[in-house]
Amino acid sequence: MKKLLIANRGEIAVRLIRAGKELGIKTVAIFAKEDEFAVHRFKADESYLVGEGKAPIAAYLDIDDIIRIAKETGADAIHPGYGFLSENDEFATAVEAAGIKFVGPRVEHLKMFGDKITAKQAAIKAGVPTVPGTDHPVESIEEALAFGAEHGYPLFVKSAAGGGGRGMRVVEHDDELREAFERAASEAQQSFGKAEIYLEKYLQDPKHVEIQILADEQGEVMHLFERDSSIQRRHQKIIEFAPAVSVSIDMRRRIQDAAVKLMQSVDYQSAGTVEFLVDGDDFYFIEVNPRVQVEHTVTEEITGVDIVKSQLLIAQGYGLHEAPLNIPAQDKLLAVGVAIQSRITTEDPANNFMPDTGKIDWYRSPGGTGIRLDAGNVYAGATVTPFFDSLLVKVVAHGTDFTEAVDKMQRALNEFAIRGVKTNIPFLKNVYAHPTFRAADAPTTFVDKHPELFE
Ligand code: ADP
Repeated sequence: MKKLLIANRGEIAVRLIRAGKELGIKTVAIFAKEDEFAVHRFKADESYLVGEGKAPIAAYLDIDDIIRIAKETGADAIHPGYGFLSENDEFATAVEAAGIKFVGPRVEHLKMFGDKITAKQAAIKAGVPTVPGTDHPVESIEEALAFGAEHGYPLFVKSAAGGGGRGMRVVEHDDELREAFERAASEAQQSFGKAEIYLEKYLQDPKHVEIQILADEQGEVMHLFERDSSIQRRHQKIIEFAPAVSVSIDMRRRIQDAAVKLMQSVDYQSAGTVEFLVDGDDFYFIEVNPRVQVEHTVTEEITGVDIVKSQLLIAQGYGLHEAPLNIPAQDKLLAVGVAIQSRITTEDPANNFMPDTGKIDWYRSPGGTGIRLDAGNVYAGATVTPFFDSLLVKVVAHGTDFTEAVDKMQRALNEFAIRGVKTNIPFLKNVYAHPTFRAADAPTTFVDKHPELFE
C-alpha cells in the first residue's frame, strides 16, 4: 500500500490520514464543495473536489467520481471510514473491480451484515443468542399480529436495512402494531430501498455491550474486549466506555466468546463490532457493524492497539500476531484501566438538541494526562455548516478505573471553552454528575427517561 484515498470527511478522515502517515503511506483526501476549507483536505498529501455539482452528502456518495480520483492519483487502496459508503457493498465491489484494495471486510460480509435479518440468521447459525423475535422478513400483518399474541407487548418493529437509530419503532398493542407495520415498511422502502420488516421483543432497560473484533486474512479472529454504549438519545450513542465495567466479568467473557464464535463462523476479515443487549443474566445479539466505529478510540486507549493502523496492515496481508502488527495473543492481551468517550456535538440541549451552525468564535480545548481529542474542522474561525452530521470533537479520558476516568472527563469538559455555536457540553456534564452514571449502571433508556439532564 503506497497511496490511500480517504472516502470520508471530518474527524474520521483526519484519524485515517494520521494512521496512513504513521505507516509511511501517502494520503489522498476528497472534499465536497461545501468542505472547501475543511481541515481534512489540508492534512492529506493531496486533495480533490468530489461530486462536482452534487448536493453535499451526495458528493461523498459519488462512487464513480471517487474511483476516478483514485485512479487518476494512483491510489492503490481506499478506506471508507464510517457512515457514507463504508457499508455499501456496491462501492466495495466497484473499488475491487477497479483493481484497488477496499480497506474493510469482504463484499459478502457487507451484504450479510448490511441486512439485519441475514445478520441475525448468521448469529443463530453460530449458536449465538438473539433477541426473541422473527428471524425472517414478516410478510403480512396477520403474521405480525400472531407474533404479538404469542410473545406479548411491547414489541420493536425494525427495518432489515435500518441503521443509525433509524427504522425502529416500539409498539404497545395490536392497533399500534397494525399502524407501525404498514408505515415502517413504506418508510423503509423510501429511506433504505428495502421494505423488509422484522419483529423483536422490546427489552425494557437493557445495557448495550459491543465487542471489538479484529480478524486477519489468514483466518485469525480475536476480540479487543468490549465497550458499553448504553448512553444513547433516541437510540443514538453519545457516551461509550471500555471495558464494560457496567456488567460482570463473567458476562463480559460470555459475550466476548459469542462474538468471536460468530465472526469465526463467517470467516470475517478486518475490524468489526458485534453488538449485544444485556438484560439481567441474559445477553442477545442485535447486529454487526462491519467497519471502524466512532467509539473505536476507547478500545485503543485500554489495549494500546491502533485499530485503524491494524485495518491498513491487515489489508496488506499481515497477520494479527506477526510484525508489524505484533498484537499479543488473545490470552496475553491486557485491558489497562478504563477509557470513556464523549461525542461533543453542536446540538443545543436546551432547544430539543437542534443542531446549531455558524462560526466558532472562540475555541479552547482541554489537554493534560489521560485526555485524547479527535476533531475535524474545529478551531476559532471555523464555520460549522448545516450539511453534515453535528459531531464536533470526540474527547476520550483514560483513567486507572471508571471513577478516575469520569473525574478526568469532567475536568476536561470544564476546560473546554467554545463560543459561537451551542454544544451539548452542559448536557454531558449533567450525565457525568448523575449517580446512576457514576455507578456505571445506566441502561439504554437512561437519557430518554431523565429529561432533567437537558436543562
Ligand atoms: P442501529 O443499527 O440503528 O444502530 P441497533 O439494532 O444497533 O440499531 O439498535 C440501536 C439501539 O436500539 C440499541 O442500542 C438499543 O438501545 C435499542 N434497541 C435495539 N433493539 C432493541 C430491543 N429489542 N429492545 C430494546 N432496545 C433495543
